[in-house]
Amino acid sequence: MNATTNITPAADLAPLVTHWIDGKAVEGHGPRAAVFDPSHGREARKVCLATTAEVDAAIRSAAAAFPAWSRTPALRRARVMFRFKDLLDRHQKDIARVISAEHGKTLSDAEGEVTRGLEVVEFACGAPHLLKGEYSDSVGTGIDSFSLRQPLGVVAGITPFNFPAMVPMWMFPVALIAGNTFILKPSERDPSTSLYLARLLQEAGLPDGVLNVVQGDKVAVDALLHSPHVAAISFVGSTPIARYIHSEGTAHGKRVQALGGAKNHAIVMPDADMGAATEAIVGAAYGSAGERCMAISVAVAVGEKTADDLVARLKTRVPTLKIGASDMPGADMGPLVTEAHKAKVQGYIDAGVAEGAEIILDGRGHTVAGYENGYFLGATLFDKVRPDMKIYKEEIFGPVLCVVRVPDFTSAVRLINSHEFANGTAVFTRSGEIARAFVQDIEVGMVGVNVPLPVPMAFHSFGGWRNSLFGDHHAYGQEGIRFYTRLKTVTQRWPETDSVRAEFVMPTMK
Ligand code: NAD
Repeated sequence: MNATTNITPAADLAPLVTHWIDGKAVEGHGPRAAVFDPSHGREARKVCLATTAEVDAAIRSAAAAFPAWSRTPALRRARVMFRFKDLLDRHQKDIARVISAEHGKTLSDAEGEVTRGLEVVEFACGAPHLLKGEYSDSVGTGIDSFSLRQPLGVVAGITPFNFPAMVPMWMFPVALIAGNTFILKPSERDPSTSLYLARLLQEAGLPDGVLNVVQGDKVAVDALLHSPHVAAISFVGSTPIARYIHSEGTAHGKRVQALGGAKNHAIVMPDADMGAATEAIVGAAYGSAGERCMAISVAVAVGEKTADDLVARLKTRVPTLKIGASDMPGADMGPLVTEAHKAKVQGYIDAGVAEGAEIILDGRGHTVAGYENGYFLGATLFDKVRPDMKIYKEEIFGPVLCVVRVPDFTSAVRLINSHEFANGTAVFTRSGEIARAFVQDIEVGMVGVNVPLPVPMAFHSFGGWRNSLFGDHHAYGQEGIRFYTRLKTVTQRWPETDSVRAEFVMPTMK
């Protein structure tokens, strides 16, 4: 733990995970839910689940903080982000430890997650430039016109378990530098990271009330959705809940961006570098135990020869993966997040076998010595998966890779374009012609060419198509700025006057 800051070890993995309202940890009066240690398979702490009244208190705090924060010059808001970025750098390893203790992902993976969130903070440090409007002089005689991007008010973010640091940081840095105040409702499965981030923001100089955290479940989410004082909701999670958030939020007059589930396909062409493609697919399919919205869960092999080669390589490579506790040095993947989620993924493997897919590697029953109660599942590989099978149609969100065999590139593109989900996809090929056709014809939001996890950098934007995103705006980047601001366009004429006096001091931000 970094001795130069106020965050103490006891504060980040405390026995009770509280809310954070008005710059203070607040114990709720609502029910409490168990938070688990997935590596050991036991309850580790409790989290408060907010009541509607507690959510209302957070909304009141954010609404009270809005007038002063929204009038704070963008440059000063950016300076808070600069200090927050510095604190994130210094606390990266500790934040990663908190993430992996509750999520189960490996420490190095958790550090990577913090880096990807931190990049959005770096993007947000450019606030004065990002919020610049447009100006036209002399749109008429003596008349000038300009536009402003102004904040919406109190906005909320509802986030999933799989990236407890990165996904909140897709949202609040951009929302805050635009002048909004923010309420975060993190996943109740790994809630401690949210408090760590809130404390660091306070230390960075964020005024109390500008960011509040309410822990909770559907009760808290519904309170945010139904409040007339919340102007916008950003959501990331599964598709059924994303659809609900979008329809309920927009019905209550809010701006909503709701990012949903995924089934990401990687096409392997006969001309691909098979060694590189195999390595890329193994990392993208099994990293973070497949609990990533950009995980590759389907490999589409073009031609029988490519399929046989790919499956043979996977069959040799995948069993070498090191599965271990989240803090085990050198582990490639850890346990699943909860017992219930492990059972769900195992149910999909059962269904795949029952539907007649060929199981090449079976992860059921995998145990790790010393962690016998942990929620571990081995890496699983299915071949000859058909598009009508449940394991192809639905998002599994676990360490399960399906190989689908198709005769040609056109069939591969048609297959991907017909799937309900359209978050990410990739092609592995040496052909520029195929790569270009793929980029042009594929109907998916994020596309990789020989890149298995094409997660856009912070200065681009993240989002899928079809049932992977409800709403008009992708997350972060310029799309994030647009989502969290509204446009005002001013046309003005001033009478000429001789009352203006010259100033000779260099103008500076006071
Ligand atoms: P989830 O949908 O179960 O939960 C997400 C959030 O919604 C949580 O904060 C949860 O408390 C809340 N929630 C759950 N049930 C609710 C209900 N009935 N009413 C209101 N709120 C509810 O998702 P998860 O299991 O935490 O996360 C995994 C999912 O998130 C996967 O489907 C994954 O693909 C998706 N995801 C998508 C992206 C993306 O960018 N598209 C990124 C990360 C994760």
